[in-house]
Amino acid sequence: MWPYETEADALKDALRLARGMTYKNAAAELPYGGGKCVVIGDPKQDKTEGVLRALGRFINRLGGLYLTGVDVGTTVQDMEVMRMESPYVVTIPEAMGGPGDSAPATAFGVFQGIRACLREVYGSPLPQGRTVAVQGVGAVGKEVVRYLAETGAIVTIADIDQEKTSLLAAQYSVSVVQPEEIHRLDVDVYSPCAMGAVLNDQTIPELRCKIVCGSANNQLAEERHGDLLAREGILYAPDYIVSAGGVISGVDILNPGGFNRQRAMEKVSHIYKTMGNVIAISKEQNIPTYRAADVLAEQRIAMIRQVKSLAV
Ligand code: NAD
Repeated sequence: MWPYETEADALKDALRLARGMTYKNAAAELPYGGGKCVVIGDPKQDKTEGVLRALGRFINRLGGLYLTGVDVGTTVQDMEVMRMESPYVVTIPEAMGGPGDSAPATAFGVFQGIRACLREVYGSPLPQGRTVAVQGVGAVGKEVVRYLAETGAIVTIADIDQEKTSLLAAQYSVSVVQPEEIHRLDVDVYSPCAMGAVLNDQTIPELRCKIVCGSANNQLAEERHGDLLAREGILYAPDYIVSAGGVISGVDILNPGGFNRQRAMEKVSHIYKTMGNVIAISKEQNIPTYRAADVLAEQRIAMIRQVKSLAV
């Protein structure tokens, strides 16, 4: 839900996001295509039970062709309201038999991505003793920090919200720096878990890391920044590959018997292998990793298209 200025803006965004979901789901080996719906409105003012239930009814009318989950401007509690109108709302609270907040699963996927990148660059996936800078310690970032701290990585964090960094620093042995410094640290891994477009003309020359792997959506300001990172010898983990944990876990509810956290997290752990495949394609075809991720997704989409066109 977003206060788009025009209907055309909303439509453009929905198409862009739907395409993104198609690639994300294909690369994550999920048995689903991709789609997105957007609602024009300010979540703080316009989100009412009526609006949410009306949306639920529209989704229900599609009879399962489109499944939805929590995203920008909505919460798990909103999904609970929409669920009154449709079973095709998947990210419902734990109390209702759903996965609850998607952030822990997303963070676990990012952690697997980091391990795959460490293996490529340092020959071992073990985070122990590796230095990692985490930008943004919100829902996803704080869980990434937990995984890293628990496996012995040396972690530095930054957030514009000081309360969040203080809380985390009290829990784990992590260092805190100012938000404008975090991407410039001389570390093994820079993990952007805040906002998009953090890899741009200004920041890339300032990076001193060997790996970029985080959850933030649309990290590359433009595609050419992915080429620039490759030229600089920095291994970039494409965001939609390593941030797929939330959606992988969200759709687990569709299995017979409903949501099973252990099975869901096991599937999320495959992101380690998927990231390894992206790296392999990137090396074989001599292309940057952001392109290799698209190749991986497009190969699977083409294969499934062939399967679906079989006359059986
Ligand atoms: P969040 O809002 O809980 O956390 C973001 C954090 O970043 C906040 O603590 C915020 O204060 C901080 N922040 C904002 N600007 C900053 C800056 N300039 N420097 C440092 N910190 C800054 O959001 P989240 O759910 O943790 O998601 C983080 C990112 O991951 C987003 O880009 C989101 O789109 C993406 N993502 C999230 C999920 C998920 O399951 N939640 C799934 C896929 C992708």
